[in-house]
Amino acid sequence: MSSAAPSPKTFRVKSFGCQMNVYDGERMAELLAAEGMSAAAEGDDADLVVLNTCHIREKATEKVYSDIGRINKDWRREDGSAPMIAVAGCVAQAEGEEIMARAPSVKVVVGPQSYHRLPAMVADAASGKRSTETDMPAEAKFAALPKRRKSAPTAFLTVQEGCDKFCTYCVVPYTRGAEISRPFADLVEEAKLLVAGGAREITLLGQNVNAWEGEDDKGHTVGLDGLARALAADPDLQRIRYTTSHPNDMTDGLIAAHGELEKLMPFLHLPVQAGNDRVLRAMNRSHTVDSYMALLERIRAARPDIALSGDFIVGFPGETDAEFEDTLRLVDAVGYTQAFSFKYSPRPGTPAATMPDHVPASVMDERLQRLQAAINRDQLAFNKASVGKTCDVLVERRGKLPGQWLGKSPWLQSVHFIGKAEIGQMVTVELVDAGPNSLAGLLV
Ligand code: SAM
Ligand code: SF4
Repeated sequence: MSSAAPSPKTFRVKSFGCQMNVYDGERMAELLAAEGMSAAAEGDDADLVVLNTCHIREKATEKVYSDIGRINKDWRREDGSAPMIAVAGCVAQAEGEEIMARAPSVKVVVGPQSYHRLPAMVADAASGKRSTETDMPAEAKFAALPKRRKSAPTAFLTVQEGCDKFCTYCVVPYTRGAEISRPFADLVEEAKLLVAGGAREITLLGQNVNAWEGEDDKGHTVGLDGLARALAADPDLQRIRYTTSHPNDMTDGLIAAHGELEKLMPFLHLPVQAGNDRVLRAMNRSHTVDSYMALLERIRAARPDIALSGDFIVGFPGETDAEFEDTLRLVDAVGYTQAFSFKYSPRPGTPAATMPDHVPASVMDERLQRLQAAINRDQLAFNKASVGKTCDVLVERRGKLPGQWLGKSPWLQSVHFIGKAEIGQMVTVELVDAGPNSLAGLLV
């Protein structure tokens, strides 16, 4: 039990980790705003700080405790008091009790499937009661969230949560729970509201987004392609993306949609994790190198210009030099236009954490450097090969230079250009110069 504090009037939500956390962070901000609290402007004091955390790797988890310490020490308000701290997200789910014991300044611990309870828990905390809520079913959460209002030109929409795949290195099935798909009608309604609020591009999100399944307005069972087709019917929505996909859930219908649905952007994030079948088996990935490559061939046949992205883990327990070389070979063969790569991080409670032959940190460092060099090489090559092309860019924000604007190409490359434009507009540019992370364009 701790002492009462004034009810917070201002708040800040800090989200770490994946795009699903960014979505959850936005929804938490909407919940708090619906209670009459206002978001603190950048640099201003906040009465409540929500740390929306990530548990995927050890470093991400450690960050929570250092952030709590920093908030207590540096984020003093004018009257000298520290803000109320709430810990949300996957660290809250996995280590809620430990956080409560280790950090007395944390008043609220709320898991990713229970954050609709955040306002009530904050009110309890203001009256002196610390509380933890880590229930798993997600359906109650979505039903309890307020309606979407204003949105940016690009918006996230979580359609699926949780994971049943149980890759041996991963905490997601434990922190986010079993796979659930949000109902078709709810998603169509939320997308409409996002578009009415200004969104021109929607990215459908899920831990395994392509495992989404639902019943459409005619009572037919449809997959993600059916949902994308329904959303594409809105004339004001110009672009649809989705992430993250599992290779085993790439259905024929979704592959075909890439060739047929103009609004479905030619970009696919399809993690493979490793380029060696023994390692993939030990990871419980349930695909092989050959089945992954055959899948890419079918996707490229449907949409020849598709840009591919992936996730990789180097130094999975027992990974030999030769097995790592297979990953480099796969990268050479695919030619990713961007990709994320990580050193294996043992997560308590996962099967891989107790496997033998953990790879030394220095070996992981070297492998990561070599892998990232290969990925960066291919990214730059792809960007340079785009020079001379003309493409649409959805304007997202102003750039640093006067008259400069930033947006994305269909292939998710960052493009900057100078000229007359406005946020949310789709402009046509000629790509005239390329660097590793962005391209320069000229308005056509
Ligand atoms: N569901 C997606 C999939 O299977 O591709 C990815 C979800 S996970 C949030 C994002 C990425 O984090 C994974 O693709 C993997 O590369 C990485 N990751 C997960 N657990 C990890 C661990 N223990 N150590 C290092 N990287 C990890
Ligand atoms: Fe984690 Fe594997 Fe599920 Fe992706 S598919 S969230 S890596 S368990």
